[in-house]
Amino acid sequence: MAFPLIRHVRAFVVRGGGADYHDQGEGHWIDDHIATPMSRYPEYRQSRQSFGINVLGTLVVEIEAMDGTIGFAVTTGGEPAAYIVEKHLARFLEGRAPNEIEKIWDQMYFSTQYYGRKGLVVNAISGVDLALWDLMGKLRGEPVHHLLGGAVRDELTFYATGARPDLAKSLGFIGGKMPLHHGPAEGEEGMRKNIEELATMRDRVGEDFWLMFDCWMSLDLNYATRLAHKAHEYGLKWIEEALSPDDYWGYRDLKANAPKGMLVTTGEHEATRWGFRMLLEMDCCDIIQPDVGWCGGMTELIKISALADARGVMVIPHGSSVYSYHFVVTRHNSPFAEFLMMAPKADKVVPMFQPLLMREPVPVNGRLKVPDTPGFGVTLNPDVPLHRPYTH
Ligand SMILES: [Mg+2]
Repeated sequence: MAFPLIRHVRAFVVRGGGADYHDQGEGHWIDDHIATPMSRYPEYRQSRQSFGINVLGTLVVEIEAMDGTIGFAVTTGGEPAAYIVEKHLARFLEGRAPNEIEKIWDQMYFSTQYYGRKGLVVNAISGVDLALWDLMGKLRGEPVHHLLGGAVRDELTFYATGARPDLAKSLGFIGGKMPLHHGPAEGEEGMRKNIEELATMRDRVGEDFWLMFDCWMSLDLNYATRLAHKAHEYGLKWIEEALSPDDYWGYRDLKANAPKGMLVTTGEHEATRWGFRMLLEMDCCDIIQPDVGWCGGMTELIKISALADARGVMVIPHGSSVYSYHFVVTRHNSPFAEFLMMAPKADKVVPMFQPLLMREPVPVNGRLKVPDTPGFGVTLNPDVPLHRPYTH
């Protein structure tokens, strides 16, 4: 079967929500005194936007085939990622067959390795890779989950990430993951407030509902260990991304120190098979949480997941909406998925990447059947303005 060759690759930037889900207005739970590595500076403690968490914005990559079919994907990375896509990565796609997914990934990664390897560059690669999978699905008339080996279950079940696990429970989710609000710089009073918030939420949701803390890289090993043991009394299911993603040794020790039965999770800011190999071989965690828009795209997530599967480690991808759902439904070692509650008060289910995508599916009663429409099954909202800062 011959596919039409790739004619053109384009990169756009979008502001306000979308894949850069931190790019929200005032009063949103996602920017309310959340503990971060910058919390050691009082002036950057109240708002993550104050230190620039939303500075990049969303990247949209479009790949157009000779027959006019367009695959697209969204991730973070904004204007600098758009530059990399247009000026560097596009050359490895244009004029080529869209089914050369492995070769194109390899060339994108190794041609940028001298300035890339992680972060922004791998976000850009991820965006191109996901757009290529979307294009392949559309050209074949199949959903991406067919191309990944097919679904292993009829529907996905979700836990909710947001400030209100109690409301998430009533909306049908299997668990609720709260942002940790106070880091080590806020001392014992901050520690007490963290535990009080957990205790209050445990009271509201009862014994069986999962509660988790997302620590967003904000803690040190000693604080994380103490938090884990105090939180164990309130049945905390997992402690997420407690330490710097560079601190593999700290994660190894935290996993060894954590109370029996509590899971240590991390990886949303890790990238590629080599980064995750470190987490896995050093026995850093019980669950890895790659973001398919940041870790190298679908092509790399397949490899990362295979490594984890062989070690009996679960893969619960970070956020990423449809780009995660098509993968999770095909893998036994991804038994549930994350849903980011993007309503400002975390009190209702709204599309994760709103307002950027159309037909973006959301869980109902905490469950979702992954759509069978070709590609990832979403389209761009024509009402959201796209800005193309570079051309080639
Ligand atoms: Mg997280």
